[in-house]
Amino acid sequence: MALIVQKFGGTSVANPDKIKAVAKRVLGCKEKGNDMVVVLSAMAGETNRFVDLANQMQSIPDPREMDVLLSGGEQVTIALFAMAIKEMGYDAVSLLGDQVKIVTDTMHTKARIKNIETDLIRSHLAAGKVVVVAGFQGVTEQGDITTLGRGGSDTTAVALAAALKADQCDIFTDVEGVYTTDPNICSSARKIDRITYDEMLELASLGAKVLDIRSVGIAKRYKVPVHVRSTFTENEGTWVVEEEKKMESMLISGVAYNKNEARITIARVPDQPGTATKLFKPISDAGINVDMIIQNTRGADMTDMTFTVPRTDYKKAMAMVEKIAADIGAEGVSGDTDIVKVSVVGVGMRNHPGIATTMFETLANEGINIMMISTSEIKISCVIEEKYTELAVRALHKAFNLDQAA
Ligand code: ADP
Ligand code: ASP
Ligand code: MG
Repeated sequence: MALIVQKFGGTSVANPDKIKAVAKRVLGCKEKGNDMVVVLSAMAGETNRFVDLANQMQSIPDPREMDVLLSGGEQVTIALFAMAIKEMGYDAVSLLGDQVKIVTDTMHTKARIKNIETDLIRSHLAAGKVVVVAGFQGVTEQGDITTLGRGGSDTTAVALAAALKADQCDIFTDVEGVYTTDPNICSSARKIDRITYDEMLELASLGAKVLDIRSVGIAKRYKVPVHVRSTFTENEGTWVVEEEKKMESMLISGVAYNKNEARITIARVPDQPGTATKLFKPISDAGINVDMIIQNTRGADMTDMTFTVPRTDYKKAMAMVEKIAADIGAEGVSGDTDIVKVSVVGVGMRNHPGIATTMFETLANEGINIMMISTSEIKISCVIEEKYTELAVRALHKAFNLDQAA
């Protein structure tokens, strides 16, 4: 008998019929003698609907209230799911993050899990129940509801699997696994059978939303093998695992893109020690993640600073930067949100020079201008205009022969 954690995303539980179908699938696993812990997302579109509502109330919605609102979608699906299981003649219990005690820090709308208590779940499992946990939400030590950031139900599932020392963690979604790029924008994308935690971390951090990045970090730390697969077929999906010998020959494992990007430029900042700290410390203290930074010298003692932040934090960051720019005597602030970051990722890149050149040439051949570049050992990213996303992804996918079987 195994303990299995299964997570179903928003499209998998998008309506009552789909919830019933998922309940049936979970019971199929339970029938084989397994203990089942199920993590659910909100119905597809529901969290976006809440975000829209919040934006109609406040120009920058209050983060604490935002979490009370956003956590509501998952509350609906877990209750409906438990009802569906009971209707099928089995027992189930739905649990919210604060009932389980998924304890997080206080960084509302992007909280981090600090600790998960497992006693309650274990006692319900021992009583033969299917335990249904709300994804994406937790509670602070003070008792405030938090959410883990968009896509955070994956993180709930993997963190629960680690805390419960589960035998298996399945992430069920609307595609058959992790592909060489988003199969919804590139028809020649291929399913990857096995991918390393490190590659998946890069792909996720660069925008492949099939797995939330934090879930991959936890999977890696606690060595949880994660199986990403389709809710709608029985096919084997993708295993996310530790690096294996046979993977070394792969040069590039995937192409990712992230539209949740915005660019901010501060013009003519005094070029002197301490300026970067004055600018970036308050931004990071506010929990905003600055990604790429470019500094261009303008004359002897002035510099322009351009950097990227998540588009979802753009308004908040802009408000802060305008104030800081005035304090440090910069000339002005500008920004835009119609950019995208496209990236190529692969552990094999470590020993192969020339990947960057191929990437730049490919984009140039399509007439796409590169605005910013950043590299690490196993990835190269370029910021380009958002309207070229599909074109760039398809061209890079082809240029690195990802459409051909490895
Ligand atoms: P869920 O609601 O099940 O969590 P998501 O929408 O968060 O599903 O993630 C699945 C989506 O991720 C797919 O529909 C696909 O469009 C997108 N995606 C982006 N990059 C990839 C990739 N490399 N492999 C698979 N899917 C990807
Ligand atoms: N419902 C949340 C979202 O849409 C969490 C998730 O689906 O993983 O981001
Ligand atoms: Mg998701």
